[in-house]
Amino acid sequence: MDKQTGNIGVTTENIFPVIKKFLYSDHEIFLRELVSNAIDATQKLKTLASFGEFKGELGEMNVKVTVDKDKGTLTISDHGIGMTAEDIDKYINQIAFSGAEEFLEKYKDNVNAIIGHFGLGFYSAFMVAKKVEILSLSYKDGAEGVKWECDGSPKFSMETIDKKERGTDIVLYIDDDNKEFLEQARIDSLLKKYCRFLPVPVISGKEQEWKDGKYVDTDRDKIINITEPAWMKKPVDLTKEDYLKFYHDLYPAQEDPLFWIHLNVDYPFNLTGILFFPKIKNNFEVTKNRIQLYCNQVFVTDSVEGVVPEFMMLLQGVIDSPDIPLNVSRSYLQADTAVKKISGYITKKVSSRLEEIFRNDRADFEAKWNDIKIFIEYGMLTDEKFCESAMKFVLLKDTQGKFYTLEEYKTLVEPTQTDKDGNIVYIYSNDVTAQYNYIEAATEKGYDVLVMDGQLDSHFIGLLEQKLDKTRFVRVDSDTVENLVPKNDKKELGISPLEQNILTTAFTSQLPKVEKAQFLILFEALNDAGAPVMITQNEYMRRMKDMAALQPGMNFYGELPDSYNLIINTSNEIIKNLGEATVKSLEEQVKPLEETIETNNKQIADIRSNAKDGKLSDEDSKKSSELEQKVNEAREEEKKIISEFADKNEKFRQLIDIALLGNGLLKGADLSRFIARSYSLLK
Ligand code: ADP
Repeated sequence: MDKQTGNIGVTTENIFPVIKKFLYSDHEIFLRELVSNAIDATQKLKTLASFGEFKGELGEMNVKVTVDKDKGTLTISDHGIGMTAEDIDKYINQIAFSGAEEFLEKYKDNVNAIIGHFGLGFYSAFMVAKKVEILSLSYKDGAEGVKWECDGSPKFSMETIDKKERGTDIVLYIDDDNKEFLEQARIDSLLKKYCRFLPVPVISGKEQEWKDGKYVDTDRDKIINITEPAWMKKPVDLTKEDYLKFYHDLYPAQEDPLFWIHLNVDYPFNLTGILFFPKIKNNFEVTKNRIQLYCNQVFVTDSVEGVVPEFMMLLQGVIDSPDIPLNVSRSYLQADTAVKKISGYITKKVSSRLEEIFRNDRADFEAKWNDIKIFIEYGMLTDEKFCESAMKFVLLKDTQGKFYTLEEYKTLVEPTQTDKDGNIVYIYSNDVTAQYNYIEAATEKGYDVLVMDGQLDSHFIGLLEQKLDKTRFVRVDSDTVENLVPKNDKKELGISPLEQNILTTAFTSQLPKVEKAQFLILFEALNDAGAPVMITQNEYMRRMKDMAALQPGMNFYGELPDSYNLIINTSNEIIKNLGEATVKSLEEQVKPLEETIETNNKQIADIRSNAKDGKLSDEDSKKSSELEQKVNEAREEEKKIISEFADKNEKFRQLIDIALLGNGLLKGADLSRFIARSYSLLK
């Protein structure tokens, strides 16, 4: 063949500059494209040979990547089917490029889209090369060697050459802006990234050895890939060690995974892969070691958002599918029905595998629970389908360290923890050490307390309350043990209104100032063996505040102080005695004041009842405010008397402080005063 020249079948003259410009950011993928082509050519010849259509010697079927710094070239060689001049004309020169510019404009942000859509793989070489040569000898009988050359303009030249070895060499004359691709180390790392699991050996440079104080090349070729990665094999052919080795190859310096799922489908789509459940130690690892997506063993990406359900972003491993439209934008991917099916399939597979482990080896499942809990809860919170199936195997752990399924737990607590309205109350602790007292009291009463101290547990509780019928969760310190599960057996308080009034004022006067905290004094006839004074935190308010902390929009609740209840146990001996003694000492002074308050209040009420259309006459209004004034004065007087008494009787403050101490609320100067007071009370 005489040397021929021509124009590549691109309708737009300046297509190469356009490619260069738009593809610049991601230009390293040229290597993936060219090596993939070389692998394809190799595989095709193997297939032809297996059908008997190629009868020659296959010889060594590898792909070689060679850097020649002196010549400034990077060469990708294969021993595959090769190309005749006609093939090159057909596959390389005549690319349908109608409307190319418009397309490039539309997809300029997505390099893969352009490349995939137009079979532009080969042309990506021009992102890094000022000139590209194809030297090829087809496998076909009597084929002639051919050399094609192009300098990045739409003009090419093609001529016959003398080439002995079957296959193709793609020679890139690397341009000045891309000298990095002449560094062996850079090429090796790119090959490791994209070509690590290609099915044909890929050789890049030589193995090195340590000699005379430095590394030198040996004459052994360096193969950078594993041609039969674990996920392409059948699960029956793999041992536990094989899976672990594969995992550590993928993610060096990681702890062993908890377990794995081998995916293998060929209908209605093609998908293989292995997903690992890692031991998650911190969030940083999650974002770093992600699932990798492959297409016929070629690495494509490790941003798999949209392909796998969101909660599986916590998993690791590989997914390989030629059916995922890899070369399209992310928004398209998420809307794609095939992708949705794949995502649904993976979800199903993961939940059925979890259920299988749960059923076959519950002990192992429980042992790993702490590590997989976050994954399962996240899945249940974000994926309706997964939630449905996980309801069967999600576990609850109690403070005894026992595990229950939802069904089992309901059976356990229903008899004892059903309240007067027929709701089952699940009692939980989010801090077993801090809430020790409360847990002990609840356990003694025959209740079971769950441990809910995980990162997602507060959301998870919300989810369970939605999913489980007539069930609500209360934190163990949200109320006194008698009231955690409200029943119809409230005991009478057993103290007079006067005593209650005096004690309220006495305790209120002794409350310390705790920053961002507010106390409400309540009386309850609790267990007589129970504590005299207790502090509880309202479940509803606490949840509102917790939520506010997570959502910037809910400032209102976030700004509120923590509201605690200070509960006085009127059945307790200490309170009984203290109340009696206090009333005895103050009765004489307080009673007349109480009477004044009562009679004046009665008069105010009488006057108010005369109001017409909510309005008092001027005279009545004057009288009423005079009476109010008197009530206030009496109240102040009463308060003063009681406070002075309480100031002198250290028991009030001591009781409050013990309760605060039990909740970790007694700190600083208040704490040292408490200690000093305790000693003096022992004297
Ligand atoms: P795609 O691979 O997406 O079809 P490319 O532009 O990468 O697009 O390649 C176009 C065609 O050129 C290939 O389909 C193949 O027929 C041919 N080709 C490319 N590289 C080789 C090679 N190394 N050996 C044989 N044929 C090749």
